[in-house]
Amino acid sequence: MKVTDHIAQAKDTLVSFEILPPLKGKTINTIYNNLDPFMEFKPSFINVTYHRIETMFKKKADGTFEKVEVKKRPGTVAICAAIKNHYNVDTVPHLICGGFTKRDTEDALIDLSFLGIDNVLVLRGDAAKNEANFEPEVGGHSYAVDLQKQVDNLRNGIYLEEDIKNGGKADFCIGTAGYPEKHFEAPNLETDMLHLKEKVDAGADYIMTQMFFNNQKFFDFVKACRNMGIEVPIIPGLKPITNKKQLSILPKVFHVDIPADLSNAILKAKTDEDVEQIGTEWLIQQSKELKAFGVPVLHYYTLGKQHVILDVVRAIR
Ligand code: FAD
Repeated sequence: MKVTDHIAQAKDTLVSFEILPPLKGKTINTIYNNLDPFMEFKPSFINVTYHRIETMFKKKADGTFEKVEVKKRPGTVAICAAIKNHYNVDTVPHLICGGFTKRDTEDALIDLSFLGIDNVLVLRGDAAKNEANFEPEVGGHSYAVDLQKQVDNLRNGIYLEEDIKNGGKADFCIGTAGYPEKHFEAPNLETDMLHLKEKVDAGADYIMTQMFFNNQKFFDFVKACRNMGIEVPIIPGLKPITNKKQLSILPKVFHVDIPADLSNAILKAKTDEDVEQIGTEWLIQQSKELKAFGVPVLHYYTLGKQHVILDVVRAIR
């Protein structure tokens, strides 16, 4: 079932979760062990992130280095199918431009369609670790909106091979990313919002946001979207802070602000347990306020912090 159908049929705020594929070498049971406790909340859908190939230099016995391409977290499509099959819960694979030609993308979409997966979150992806800026694959897409147009074409049965006439339609529900605090490469929030509007006009069915720790930024973002005619559902992405290091890592990696009240409280905390407690309570408050605001779904980035997310969702039910 599509994310938008879940939202349309909902009687209350829905809950969803996002997981990462496990590191190569782990089994699917790692995923099930992580997800089992979340099933008590009857999540509407589960997102599975996509991680592109990384280039590494491995030292050889003779002291020289060999360039190797490694995918540390493979399996996004297979994990989505496994979760759907195991729990009968809808899944949302993340699909990125980076590392994909248009043909690779088409094949991935055909796999998803054959597996009965109705949703995709369409993203550009970040620059590869060895690149300063995002470089599209030769024969690939430069921006999420271009990838989205390809998914939209498949919704209309239009394939890359022009000789495929009346092709089967793969009716995906398309999600797109939004940034309440601006995407870090955009010159300003207005320009970033215009690009977001382009993605919605090109067929995105809903927006899922980057994490944020100050709800006012989300409320302002929703208002700005509505003022410019973006009417699709906007789903907040939420993450707990659980250790002191995140006070510098999260702004650096995700380009988000941490409110002074939260960072001061965490800096004053004496133990790791105290930090986790402060982060948990902050997220509970954030979630309650967002629920009262009327968000359609509370979407939690689990990122290994299973027990914290469980405490948060139990507290807001
Ligand atoms: P775009 O919408 O293409 O925007 C990228 C930048 O280009 C922005 O600054 C935008 O303003 C600008 N822009 C957009 N369109 C145009 C245009 N036509 N012309 C000029 N400029 C333009 N990354 C992963 O690798 N794997 C994941 O699984 C993953 N999941 C994510 C989930 C969510 C909810 C979010 C918010 C992000 C996720 N990311 C993921 C990170 C994401 O890939 C990066 O933030 C990436 O840098 C931008 O992706 P985007 O889809 O927002 O790109």
